[in-house]
Amino acid sequence: MAKYPINIGRWLRAAHSLLAPRQEQCLSCGRLGHQSTVLPGICEACARTIPWIRKPRCRKCGRHVGCPDCARGSDGSSLIRNRSAVAYSSEMRQWLSQYKYRGDEKYAEPLSRMLDSAYSILKAEIEAEAKLKWNADLLVPVPVSGLRLAERGFNQAERLAQYISAHRKIPVMELLIRAHHTGKQSFKGRAERLADMKRAFVPNPVWTQPFAGRIPFPDSPNSGIRTVPPSLSPSVRIIVVDDIYTTGSTIRACADTLQGMAISSGIRAEIYSLTWARS
Ligand SMILES: [Zn+2]
Ligand SMILES: [Zn+2]
Repeated sequence: MAKYPINIGRWLRAAHSLLAPRQEQCLSCGRLGHQSTVLPGICEACARTIPWIRKPRCRKCGRHVGCPDCARGSDGSSLIRNRSAVAYSSEMRQWLSQYKYRGDEKYAEPLSRMLDSAYSILKAEIEAEAKLKWNADLLVPVPVSGLRLAERGFNQAERLAQYISAHRKIPVMELLIRAHHTGKQSFKGRAERLADMKRAFVPNPVWTQPFAGRIPFPDSPNSGIRTVPPSLSPSVRIIVVDDIYTTGSTIRACADTLQGMAISSGIRAEIYSLTWARS
């Protein structure tokens, strides 16, 4: 009988472990198990419990449950609609805090992929309604203050936007910065805080002409482009990106500032938002 080399058993085990699905420690539950094929770092069991929002109850803000605020009618905001990947359950809250506050970079990939699936949903919805191919022209992350950036070392909204940008070939432009407000928020009344939120974001001065060259200026006499009725004029399609949508006041404030920038550049903007979670 032929004699096998003595290390054949070890070799077979190594070959078997290469062929078998990878067993790795799950970021969420810590158990060794088969990793989800779509969400690296997350085991299949945890991936099955994700509270995806595939069909939002509220068409405007993308909420998974009834939404009295939007049902009341137009809020006068420039935001057309928000879509979120998941409901903000206690597990999702833990995932976000591991990433955002504890700096666990391993969450970046699964969270970004989840947000990208919300992009797919938004795109499919608009394409079904408009019966046209649709893609965003620009991604604008919600900015964090300089202090927060120094504490965390990164802006989670910007990281999420960069992933979609690389995947979808849509540019990211940090068109907004946080405005500085004087005085402690906790000493201010509700009206004063709301007024502060409305003015919370201002144009980033590094972009003097953010939309120049990107989108034709339909009504500009020197553009050489035929004037078209406003209803048909091309508009820049902007997606504001953030990790979470709670009351929506942050996203709406960003949308309003962006709309103001577009108007002062002589163009129309369609503003949407994508957030990883909807509370
Ligand atoms: Zn797990
Ligand atoms: Zn709503």
